[in-house]
Amino acid sequence: MSKCLYFMCGTNFVSYPVKLKTKIMGIWTFFILLTVISYIVSIQFQNKFKKYSMQSLPYSLTGRQVAEMMLADYGIHDVNIMPARGYLSDHYNPANKTIALSPVVYNGNSIASVAVAAHETGHALQHNRKYFWVHVRSGLVPLAQLGAQISTWALLGGMFLMNAAPWLLLLGIVGYAISVLFSFVTLPVEFDASRRALEWMKHKGIVGGTDYQKAKDALKWAAMTYVVAALTSLATLLYYVVMFMGLSSDD
Ligand SMILES: [Zn+2]
Repeated sequence: MSKCLYFMCGTNFVSYPVKLKTKIMGIWTFFILLTVISYIVSIQFQNKFKKYSMQSLPYSLTGRQVAEMMLADYGIHDVNIMPARGYLSDHYNPANKTIALSPVVYNGNSIASVAVAAHETGHALQHNRKYFWVHVRSGLVPLAQLGAQISTWALLGGMFLMNAAPWLLLLGIVGYAISVLFSFVTLPVEFDASRRALEWMKHKGIVGGTDYQKAKDALKWAAMTYVVAALTSLATLLYYVVMFMGLSSDD
């Protein structure tokens, strides 16, 4: 029974059971593939955002004005809209009911500015309408934070104390699994915020025809970054699980 980790054992990796080696190699291939996809998606999103940031809409509405209009249309009067610092720093904070928009979105009247502002307002709308997945996600926040804190130390400690304390690696896996679950629960929340944004913008005639397709395209690539992040976290979890199971077996 080999109890050392494959990356610490050097050439001992060759002595691993074929099944375990195949699984580890499979996950590594998946990792490399995901890293490449993640890079492509990130570049694609930045390029799309940049491109649509330079295309103005017929109406001279800024991101802030669009967010104000959308909130008013849905009868939401207790949400603030604030300018945020930085690039692509747009978010909705349910704790203080604030939509924070980056300068290019807050003051801009491009397709990208309007789409992002409506998307963040979509998050405010989800909270106001008590959207199921947003409540599941909010409920998971403290658990995910605890899981992230535990897993950071437990995974590291578990690798070095595999023989003395194998339970430490298992604890790290459980903690990390909560973070993975959080990443996947984020997906329906993000897709739904974009759906609400696009639906409202189309209904109000803010974006129509090709502009609508462009707004949809910008939001699609933003959502893709969350999909890739979730898949990468899942691959990382699988890697730890396979490693733990392999090292725990007597093969
Ligand atoms: Zn979002």
